[in-house]
Amino acid sequence: MIKDALEKVSAARIKRDLFHLSSDPLRFRKVNFTRPGQTMDSLAEADGYISGRLEEAGYDVVKTPYRVQAFRCDSTKPLHHWYSPPKPEDPWYDACNLEVARGGSSASGEIIQLVSHKDSMSWIDSPGAHDNCVGTVANMELARVLAECDLKRTVRILFCNEEHTPWTSRNAAEAAAKRGDKIIAVLNADSLDGKSDQDMADGRMMHAIAYSTDEGRRLAEFVAACAPRHKIGIDVNVVFKKRINDDDGMFINAGYRTTVMNLGSWPYGDSEYHLPGDVPERVNIENLARSTRLLLAAILELDARGADSLQ
Ligand SMILES: [Zn+2]
Repeated sequence: MIKDALEKVSAARIKRDLFHLSSDPLRFRKVNFTRPGQTMDSLAEADGYISGRLEEAGYDVVKTPYRVQAFRCDSTKPLHHWYSPPKPEDPWYDACNLEVARGGSSASGEIIQLVSHKDSMSWIDSPGAHDNCVGTVANMELARVLAECDLKRTVRILFCNEEHTPWTSRNAAEAAAKRGDKIIAVLNADSLDGKSDQDMADGRMMHAIAYSTDEGRRLAEFVAACAPRHKIGIDVNVVFKKRINDDDGMFINAGYRTTVMNLGSWPYGDSEYHLPGDVPERVNIENLARSTRLLLAAILELDARGADSLQ
């Protein structure tokens, strides 16, 4: 059954969504850029595309707006870190979290939470193809394939914003904790396939899983073990990430310690990280499809075997 699901992952759909959201027509996904002739900002336009695709797959999309600001740009800082805090007088905008869920049959109270930030850098004109259009389109593809799977547990997918401030994943994580949601695992997909120029040139198929807690380490090892078992054809590296940050960190801070971040390499090797050259032409679609299959295999194994399999 897992094998059948893995075969449904479509590199063509992943590529179509990636280019739509980071090249044509949407070169950026940020509140402070509106395409000529459009009334909606480019992040709201991206939300419209993502929601439309999810609705096509049969989901009800829950859209929750939060107030955010764009980062300012400080080019005196190190090259990849030009973002700097906004001034209080800078404008505020609405940026939405999009959430969908696929209910389970026998243990629907147990939730496997997928996360990806969908926005591009607010302080610089970058398409943010690797950071993080790739995680967005991987989770869109997972949503489509999971819609056709029989699940015991609930899989919930959050599309949030992390290149504006404050980060909106924090709102979703804290709301889940407040409701007492029983999330058994959190898988953040951020910058899948992102790797060094040399690894790109060599066509290496790579995936890194970063954990910051003991519970996260067990989840990371569980996901990594799915690669050989399901013949995904990808080199997986399990790594310790000391700083509790990014969207996975927001869930850890809210009390969900069985949490990992999935990315292309660690330390993160993309030479165009946070730069205008982070374009979709540099994404290895096959690597991205394999990372998506790895996540799908892990989700279906976790769904079948439950949290006890992480002990
Ligand atoms: Zn980023």
